[in-house]
Formats: sequence, C-alpha cells, structure tokens
Amino acid sequence: MTAPSILIPDPAKAISRTRLLIGGEWVDAADGKEFDVYNPSTGDVFCQVSEAGPEDIDRAVRAAREAFDNGPWRRMSPLDRSKALWRLGDLLVANAEEIGRVETLDQGKPYLMARDGDVPSAANLFYYMSGWATKIEGEVIPISAPGDYHVYTRREAVGVVGCIVPWNFPLVIAAWKVAPALAAGNTVILKPAEQTPLSALMLGELALEAGIPPGVLNVVPGFGARAGQALTEHGDVDKVSFTGSTATGRRILDAAKGNLKKVSLELGGKSANIILPDADIDAAIQGSAAGIFFNAGQACAAGSRLYVHEDVYDQVVEGIAAVAAGIKVGDGFDPTSEIGPLVSSQHLDRVSGYLQSGFDEGARAVTGGARIGDRGYFVAPTLFADVTPTQKIVREEIFGPVVVALKFKELDQVIAAANDTRYGLAGGIWTRDVSKAHQLAAQFQSGTVWVNCYQVFDAAMPFGGYKESGWGREMGHEVLHDFTEVKTVCVKLGG
Ligand code: NAD
Ligand code: MN
Repeated sequence: MTAPSILIPDPAKAISRTRLLIGGEWVDAADGKEFDVYNPSTGDVFCQVSEAGPEDIDRAVRAAREAFDNGPWRRMSPLDRSKALWRLGDLLVANAEEIGRVETLDQGKPYLMARDGDVPSAANLFYYMSGWATKIEGEVIPISAPGDYHVYTRREAVGVVGCIVPWNFPLVIAAWKVAPALAAGNTVILKPAEQTPLSALMLGELALEAGIPPGVLNVVPGFGARAGQALTEHGDVDKVSFTGSTATGRRILDAAKGNLKKVSLELGGKSANIILPDADIDAAIQGSAAGIFFNAGQACAAGSRLYVHEDVYDQVVEGIAAVAAGIKVGDGFDPTSEIGPLVSSQHLDRVSGYLQSGFDEGARAVTGGARIGDRGYFVAPTLFADVTPTQKIVREEIFGPVVVALKFKELDQVIAAANDTRYGLAGGIWTRDVSKAHQLAAQFQSGTVWVNCYQVFDAAMPFGGYKESGWGREMGHEVLHDFTEVKTVCVKLGG
C-alpha cells in the first residue's frame, strides 16, 4: 500500500535551528565548534549543529540561575505558568509536521509515527503538567510536641535542573522531563543526545513562542563526555534528570557528588514478557511483537525476554517470527516503512555484536539475525529461540529489534526467571485469568507491568525502574516529588 505522497515532507528542506539556545538567544559555541548530524536511513550528514562545551554549559547554567533567582518565572502565578505550558502543547501540535520531519531525519523513525505518535505524546505531557502547575500543594500537619504550633509544608521548585536525554525518543523523553520541571517552577538546561539534537532545539524555540521567559528553558546540544559531564558536575546545578544507559547513569552519580545535586535516573531494561497458555494467543503474538520491534527495539521498556508456556510455545514462536518477517523495515520517509534504522553506525555495530554472540552461543534465529542492505543502519527483526538463561543475549540489554524466547512450565518458575535480572523497568503478562494476572503483577520486580497489552504510556502513568533500572519516576503526579523540595514551616503560636 502506498500512502499519498503529499503526506511526506521534503527531507532536503533546510533546518531552522542549529545553534545553542542560551538565555533566550541563539548563539554559537564559545569555541565555535560544530558537529555533524546524520540521517541514519542513509548515513549522510544533513546539517551541522553548534557543539556546547564546558564554557557554554556554564553560560547556560548562569542563564538558568538568573531566570530562577530573578526572572519572572517563579513569581508568575501558577495559572500563568499553567497557560504557558498549555500553549507549548498547542504549539507542538500545530508544528507536528515540521517537528516530525526533523525527528525522522535525525532519528530515523517512520515519519508518520513521529508526526502522529511522538509529537502528540510530547504535547500531552505539557497539557497534563499544565494542570499540575496550579495544584502543587503542601499540607497542614498536626504535631504532638508540647505547645501550640502551626506546622505546614510547602512544595518548592528545586531550582536549576539539567535534563540529559537519549536518542530513542528525543522529543518525547525531553517532554517527560521538561514539562514537570517547568510545571513545578524550575528552570532547565536540556542536553539532547549527540545523535539527535534537533527536536530539542525546536522545543526550545516553541517554548519562547509560548511565552515561557528567556533562560527558563536552555537547550545545549553536545557530547555526553563533554557537555553532559560538565552539566552534571556543575556546582550551581541543583538537580540532574537523566535517561540513558545504566553505565552512564553510574557516571552521572559520580559527577553529581561534588555538590550532592539531586539525581533521577531512568536507565536500561531487559523486560520479561510472559505468555500463559490461557491467553488470547493472537493478541499476545501481535502485542508481544509490537512490544519488542516498536522503534526498532530502541525502547528502554522493550519486551526483550519472552517467556512462553510450553503448551503454546511453538505456536507463539512461529507467530511472532511470522509477524517479524512481515515487518517493512525501511527509510523513515517511505510511507510503507513500519520500522526505521538503528540510530547510528556505532549502535549498529553494538547490536550486530549481540547477534553474533547469539549465534556463537548456539541460539537459533527463527527469523532475522542480520543487517539489511549496506546503506543506512537497518537490522532485520530477529527472534532467537533455543536460548538458555545464562547467554549474553538473554542477560544484557541489546536495544535493537531482537527478542529471545524461553519456554516455561510452572508459574512460580516463570516469575523467578523473569526477576532474574539486574534490571527492573517493565514487564508483560498475557492471560485471561484475572487472579493470575494480578498475582503475577504483584510479584514482578519492575516499575510497570502491562497485562494483555505492552508499551502503553500515558502522561498520567508513572514510569521508572526498580533495581538497576533507575531512581525516581517520570510522569504522573509522582514525578513532581522529584522536581520539588519539601519545606516544613513550624510556627509557635501565642504568647
Ligand atoms: P548514553 O547513556 O551514553 O547516552 C544517553 C545520554 O547521556 C546522551 O545525551 C549522552 O550524550 C549523555 N551522556 C553520555 N555520557 C555522559 C556523561 N559522562 N555525563 C553526562 N551525560 C552523558 O547511551 P548511548 O551510549 O547513546 O547508548 C548506549 C546504550 O544505552 C544503548 O545501547 C542502550 O542499551 C542504552 N540506552 C537506554 C536508553 C533508555 O531509554 N533507557 C536510551 C538510550 C540508550
Ligand atoms: Mn541523527
């Protein structure tokens, strides 16, 4: 099926924003450095972006500090902050075609998914958090200390917040952090991933247009080891909110200890997806395939370990393999593409290394198992069967379109196997048995459990990790705890 070509924008059109956004101004890097931005569907460089270094990070932190301490943002009424965030949601929606185009160029994902999926999801964060801006409340607390006291709490903004985001959902994950940070009255320095800097710059531009004052949202593209490190080490940053790999998460903790800034971390996963024999098997096959292959498997919550009951194992493995083999992998601007490339040649090498390790350790690729073509970074959706729990492809996060299938007999075995991982981000259960669903959900050591569905996200649903998948939660009202400090005020009454 060919969609009308009028839907597809021109990939060659110039990009509007490629410089740093600091204090409301578009500026070059202090040392004039720029870096290349690649289209992963072709491997071609399509623009250069200013590269923030430590000096630029310092400038951005000073702008955010000034905006926090002396700017209008914190003194603005909650209702005015709320309206500005809502306007930013509207502006994202109004610019969905252009943002989607840029996200596809930069990240590779299918254009229609970027335009109709990522952009509205990001907008929803601003709509949802807009509502919270007027509802960040303290409490009045009765105490038992002798005397007459009026005790209450205030929830105050933390201050200057660094948001460091990855390349798999560049705009969406930026919105997960920026929207609640701003709703709570903080000011932000957003550092997008070096692979995907562009949609963050557009977000910064639209924030100014929405009436969010200069310096409240600064956007500083640059590399992790340079810009990211400088932001995390900076003594005048009060908090860092990070999404990315567990290895980098540990580096963030080290860098944050100088001024003991607050840290929230949303890290990797190796999530288990369990299919019981009484499940709607067709739905389980479709949902589990989407749960791993969506975004070419570059999703932290991807259902990458499949546990299938022995009674339905062959049927499910064949079914998912058939879905995988039928997925159209291709250029994000081809309207028939269902998944795009991996984000970079480096990531292609990493995922290819895992495919090789699967073969070396004796796993059987029922489908896929190799790169597609030699232009762009495409990998065939892959299902490995006949795997064992100790293999590298079963234990480590691959972050590509690769799922491993394991067979189980007993429910109590399967939950132990599902939890036998250092990660704890998400999990899935497919069953028609309501009791088993809730009992298994309670036993999962993970921040999210999906029952008869997978990869359902909503601005109102908290998301985050147990164990080495992270600290804190994103979205829902839970995230506001991570972006506020609680102040207790204790007043002695009377003479
Ligand atoms: P990464 O964790 O290195 O990068 C994520 C972000 O952190 C980027 O913005 C990067 O510039 C920044 N960063 C890197 N080093 C930093 C440092 N020392 N200080 C501060 N910021 C730093 O991830 P990657 O190398 O691009 O990908 C590696 C693996 O990470 C992937 O294969 C995947 O397993 C995992 N990953 C997970 C997620 C997720 O959503 N949880 C997202 C992307 C990658
Ligand atoms: Mn790119």
